[in-house]
Amino acid sequence: MKKNILTILGIISALFAFAQPRTGDPKLTEVWSPVPSIVTPGKTAHDAPSDAIVLFNGTDFSAWNGKGGQTPTWSIADGAMTVAKGAGMITTKQSFGDCQLHIEWRAPSEVKGEGQGRGNSGIFLMNKYELQVLDGYNNSTYSNGQAASIYKQLIPLANASRKPGEWQSYDVIFIAPRFNKNGQILSQARITVIHNGVLVQNNASIWGGTEYIGIANYGQHGAKGPISLQDHGDQVSFRNIWIRELE
Ligand code: MG
Repeated sequence: MKKNILTILGIISALFAFAQPRTGDPKLTEVWSPVPSIVTPGKTAHDAPSDAIVLFNGTDFSAWNGKGGQTPTWSIADGAMTVAKGAGMITTKQSFGDCQLHIEWRAPSEVKGEGQGRGNSGIFLMNKYELQVLDGYNNSTYSNGQAASIYKQLIPLANASRKPGEWQSYDVIFIAPRFNKNGQILSQARITVIHNGVLVQNNASIWGGTEYIGIANYGQHGAKGPISLQDHGDQVSFRNIWIRELE
């Protein structure tokens, strides 16, 4: 009983203290350093801000390698690059670790195939971790293989797919995995993905490198790796690709 009364008195005094205006010097809680660097944003959230590295501006493959380190043989038209079936994946010349990536993609307007055979491509972060690109509009497939999944691992929180033939966007925040000197995993890779303005991966932990068969696991690798775009045989297009390296 005494304990209950003490508890009630404690709550009342806490509420009373909370209701009191605070006194003292407000400057004591002002932090003036470091000053965030100035980044001029793009005209819209789709446009590259001033500190972004533009990986594709609609005109050339200067930031990319194709098969065997050659210039990619994917096509470029109307400001977009399109997978050439059989040409193989294309890979950035530069490597990245922690990053913010913006990429727009479009599944073919003519619907062919179904499931994984319809508008399939992918974005391989560090050349290992696939963020799935797939025509997910009225197209049934396994949930951990649909658009915006981390392939065969993480199911997206929503299916925010637009119709085939319409441009879609991914905004990605990727944190690379960390390994110790012995190659053991210290912290898993993490990913946040916004698909067409909808949060679909929320700081989710990736299980390991993407595997088509079997369970994913981690193998030690460097702090940075290139980004690859998949040739899965479907004429998926990409445009407006830019990236910001995160400190
Ligand atoms: Mg794929």
